[in-house]
Amino acid sequence: MTRQAECSCGAVKAVVEGEPVRVSVCHCRNCQRRSGSSFAAQARWPEDQVTLTGETRAWTRVNDDGGRATFFFCPTCGSGVAYTLEAMPGLIAIPIGTFADPEFAPGPEYSVYESRKHRWVEITGDTVDHYD
Ligand SMILES: [Zn+2]
Ligand SMILES: [Zn+2]
Repeated sequence: MTRQAECSCGAVKAVVEGEPVRVSVCHCRNCQRRSGSSFAAQARWPEDQVTLTGETRAWTRVNDDGGRATFFFCPTCGSGVAYTLEAMPGLIAIPIGTFADPEFAPGPEYSVYESRKHRWVEITGDTVDHYD
């Protein structure tokens, strides 16, 4: 299966092949700021199954655990279309919202940093593992 993600203005696209190896949501404060939303949802693929096109800018942050995260975003509209974590080498995360597909599946298997979760948010499903 091939899926295509893109930024708000359409200049940056990410085409992904095959099924994601990890789908998760994160409620940490960094992800809240990065995404501009109350939590972030992302799917990860091996880097050789992701083709990123269009000009991007990159920004690297050092996380609380000391590992680096690098975010790739469109310089025109600012949408983040991909990011990588040192802690997960070889994988590229694509924010699920950039697919703009309500039928995107599978849903998240991991919900992390729930200690930072907004009180009105509930991640449902029998197969979701919850972490504080
Ligand atoms: Zn854009
Ligand atoms: Zn996070």
